[in-house]
Amino acid sequence: MLRVEGIETYYGPSQALFGVDLSLNEGEMVALLGRNGMGKTTTIRSICRLTPPAAGRVVFDGQDLDRQRAFRVARLGLGLVPEGRRVFANLSVEENLIATARDGDWNLQRINDLFPRLGERAGQSASTLSGGEQQMLAIGRALMTNPKLLILDEATEGLAPLIRQEIWASIKILKQQGLSILIVDKNLKDLLPLASSCVVLEKGRSVWGGSPDALAADAELQNRYLGV
Ligand code: ATP
Repeated sequence: MLRVEGIETYYGPSQALFGVDLSLNEGEMVALLGRNGMGKTTTIRSICRLTPPAAGRVVFDGQDLDRQRAFRVARLGLGLVPEGRRVFANLSVEENLIATARDGDWNLQRINDLFPRLGERAGQSASTLSGGEQQMLAIGRALMTNPKLLILDEATEGLAPLIRQEIWASIKILKQQGLSILIVDKNLKDLLPLASSCVVLEKGRSVWGGSPDALAADAELQNRYLGV
């Protein structure tokens, strides 16, 4: 479903990615790991063409994304939940969800079943939601686009433990429903049991790929690349 080959990405003159490879089959959840500043967000931005790579290839659902514009990529079925949960603060919860809706399996009812808190707060301004509820809304908005691949960038970062567990529970449901997911998250304890495979980034390069079990069993690998 997604194949990333040797992408190199720059911010102006400064190179952030020096060759990242990863692949994700339909229905899989791939975890993108690495310490701060190693290029996880840049990899995601490169795939979605928000910061298009200067070299390498991204093939999604049989299409080469080279030269596609970011808005086209979203229509092809990439649903991004960006770092920092950007929702429309001056719209209500329901208006936020309707704003991104496209024909498909996802609708308000299904979002509210997944996140009952959003249903209870449908008419409330998004700016009055807690951080965790805003994160749920950000995920809901991405789902309303009916993505073939959901991309989650630090979706549980900085949240209270209880609401973080609610979000992990919903991610687990999405995975069980067969949605393909690419995820960046620092909470390995919650992430690894759900992941199909892992890719580790170090200084803008993919340096290791393998199963979550292999990663969990390798203390030296975790220490070297993840600072665990
Ligand atoms: P974090 O976990 O802290 O979000 P990350 O692994 O997602 O880290 P990136 O945000 O992709 O890492 O950053 C990779 C490199 O690119 C870093 O050296 C960073 O300083 C640089 N970088 C990121 N965004 C920009 C930008 N907008 N302009 C210039 N350099 C950037």
